[in-house]
Amino acid sequence: MSHSSEYPLVSIVVPTRNRSGWLGDCLTTLVSQDYPAERYEIVVVDDGSTDDTRKVVTEMTARTRSPSVRYLCHSGGVNAARNRGIAASSGSIVGFIDDDELAPSQLLGVAVKLLTDNPSAVAVGGEYRSRLEGKRPRFACTNCAENYKSIRAPRETRSAIVDDLPGGCVFLRRQAFEKYGLFAESLSGPGDDSEWFRRTREGDGTLLQSPELWIWHRMTERDFLPGSLVKKHVLGTANLVAARQLMGWESGVGDEVMQALRFLGHGLRRRCVVGSVRGLGQSALAVRWIQVTHGKRWENQRSSVLRSVMSALAASRLKKPARLVQPPLQEEKR
Ligand SMILES: [Zn+2]
Repeated sequence: MSHSSEYPLVSIVVPTRNRSGWLGDCLTTLVSQDYPAERYEIVVVDDGSTDDTRKVVTEMTARTRSPSVRYLCHSGGVNAARNRGIAASSGSIVGFIDDDELAPSQLLGVAVKLLTDNPSAVAVGGEYRSRLEGKRPRFACTNCAENYKSIRAPRETRSAIVDDLPGGCVFLRRQAFEKYGLFAESLSGPGDDSEWFRRTREGDGTLLQSPELWIWHRMTERDFLPGSLVKKHVLGTANLVAARQLMGWESGVGDEVMQALRFLGHGLRRRCVVGSVRGLGQSALAVRWIQVTHGKRWENQRSSVLRSVMSALAASRLKKPARLVQPPLQEEKR
């Protein structure tokens, strides 16, 4: 039995920067996957670290003969690092894992099976499960501490076609890069990977999200400090809105407002600061989103109302019997 026919070659690309402490743990979980070691490789792309990242990777390379662990240095942002990893690797499937994650041993096998069973999908993504290392702060409820990235809804139970996938737990077919191009290197921050997914969707690519695929996302108590929470959930909303626009996302404003209320309600009910801050962030997001998606219409309506009021005021000053002057229809349409 030939492994090559049964198990496609997979390249796991890990972009990293100044997180050598966690990177070693991440690599340890990646080299011990339940998948034939000779059928996958790990490519670490160092985006300009100033710590001992290189040493951590080369030590792992020396310890592990198979799968191969390679170190590349390529500064220029996370998308440039991703592209460097794609160019330097050879798997027919390319996976992207972040350095602050720990992979369960079945991760690779599940990703390959999902892509094999769903030939029309160009990429499959998983979910982040939060792993809090240290004590839970009292002002964060158990739910928010354990399920940091989504308190919004119970976990999905089925695979689904989605608009966007998480950049830190995703496996893609190499052919997709030949067809849709590489990641946009000018982008950095929220939306850096979402732009590629949008491009793929516009080119009829199908993105699959499956609850069978998941990864641990590590967190410490510091992630729950008020400063960190505000930075992440409130100050980051402008970036998030820009990313949504880039993706051509058409989400209803009602959903955004409901989401904000749900978080705020949760925060009050459970006396959970995390929920409250997320509620504030979601409210800010809803307002920004309304401005972006409905801004034009609002502006038109506002100026139309303003014109009516001004005309009414002007008319009331006249000595002649007051006559409400309607704003010219043509201007109103503009
Ligand atoms: Zn909570």
